[in-house]
Amino acid sequence: MIFNNVDFDTYFKHYPNAEGYFGKYGGAYISDELKQAMQEINEAYFTICKSTKFINELRSIRRDFQGRPTPITHLDRLSNALGNVQLYVKREDLNHTGAHKLNHCMGEVLLAKFMGKKKVIAETGAGQHGVALATAAAHFGLECDIYMGTVDIAKQAPNVARMKILGANVVEVTHGLATLKEAVDAAFDAYTREYKDAIYCIGSVLGPHPFPMMVRDFQSVVGFEARAQFKEMTGELPDAVVACVGGGSNSMGMFAGFLNDPVDLYGVEPLGRGTALGDHAASLTYGTEGIMHGFNSIMLKDENGDPAPVYSVASGLDYPSSGPEHAFLHDLGRVKYDVINDEETIDAFYTLSRMEGIIPAIESAHAVAYGMKLAKTMGRGSVLMCLSGRGDKDMDYVIEKFGMR
Ligand SMILES: *Cc1c(COP(=O)(O)O)cnc(C)c1O
Repeated sequence: MIFNNVDFDTYFKHYPNAEGYFGKYGGAYISDELKQAMQEINEAYFTICKSTKFINELRSIRRDFQGRPTPITHLDRLSNALGNVQLYVKREDLNHTGAHKLNHCMGEVLLAKFMGKKKVIAETGAGQHGVALATAAAHFGLECDIYMGTVDIAKQAPNVARMKILGANVVEVTHGLATLKEAVDAAFDAYTREYKDAIYCIGSVLGPHPFPMMVRDFQSVVGFEARAQFKEMTGELPDAVVACVGGGSNSMGMFAGFLNDPVDLYGVEPLGRGTALGDHAASLTYGTEGIMHGFNSIMLKDENGDPAPVYSVASGLDYPSSGPEHAFLHDLGRVKYDVINDEETIDAFYTLSRMEGIIPAIESAHAVAYGMKLAKTMGRGSVLMCLSGRGDKDMDYVIEKFGMR
């Protein structure tokens, strides 16, 4: 399929290019020393991802450890309540650890093992990436250092406990505001010192090349599984596919399976409390081109051109940019990006729980809210939504902040 001069039959061969660009977005804006380290990871990835040993090991991990393939569920009651459109969800909440993040963490840590590294390093904000990476590191017997701000450590006690139980070393970052930004800096510093023995594992389709490509490839299992399952269930493809976009990994994985199909793709960004800067994290919808954290993409900036403060009810979505491939697909028009606010999200959180017996992560509830809205405007057809994770982690917070409904 050719769309706006991009040939999607051969898309994965050409995007990104050898320097890690999706059109003008992506690249690697980092020190020469780190560039060399990224080059080493890139070369190892290209060699390893063609080896049958690596492919077979990843395949059996997916099946025997993660519990893949995850099912697709038809939302019968919700569809009937909304009209004639059939709604479906891809159940990443049933992936081991309860979300899609393990898909790329298992790939990254397996790569580290094949490269002979002893340790994996990452930062975490809410702790979801840290827990997924600690899980993967424990499975393969690698050391794991997770950098986390003092403020986040206090807020996210259950995830800190999980990481420690899994054997990870949680390194407290005390300087500055002691949240995610400082944790990113500290983790990068550590990696610069330790890159001979360690690899840095990025938690989404972000950062310098090759991470946006590698994380997409590891997450594409979601989209390719979903495409085959949906065809088997219904005999056709969905009319629309919907996923929430924070950094953009679950959505990119999901979209990867449908880019070359006549299927409408929707990326849902968090509108939070409203459209004022600081009240949302809808970077593709309201942002402009810029460079941050080692890559060129579309981002939300403050008056100095630095990453702007962002907010969302979903801590997994509050990041001031999204992966470079999303910026590319945004400009191309292949994916439509739109927004859902906190209130609509909480409504969808309760609706899916009550009508289908599935408590979604509040990140995923953004996709569900959008799918419900879309169903009302479509009249007929089918919508497949990515349920990126389960909502156990969010229950206390939702009840405290929004009340039991
Ligand atoms: C982290 C997270 C997200 C957001 O990350 P993406 O890279 O945009 O997928 C979405 N849903 C859940 C459940 C998460 O844990």
